[in-house]
Amino acid sequence: MARESVLTQRSIVADDTLAVLTGQPKGSFVSYTELTRGLHSYIKSKQLRLKACVHCQSQIPGYATFCDGCGKPQ
Ligand SMILES: [Zn+2]
Repeated sequence: MARESVLTQRSIVADDTLAVLTGQPKGSFVSYTELTRGLHSYIKSKQLRLKACVHCQSQIPGYATFCDGCGKPQ
């Protein structure tokens, strides 16, 4: 039942979480470089601040110059 371990110090098999973090298919090999890069971009995306549209109060990215909801400039 035990799967052959193919882990090395430089790569890891992506499980569900790692697949999400790195954007790689589950079960694929992910290098630590890819993992680190994916982790950083994931954290960065999760930390994106939202702001409320000054016109319609829709939650939009803090960097947005136009509202996704009403299309008006911010
Ligand atoms: Zn709006």
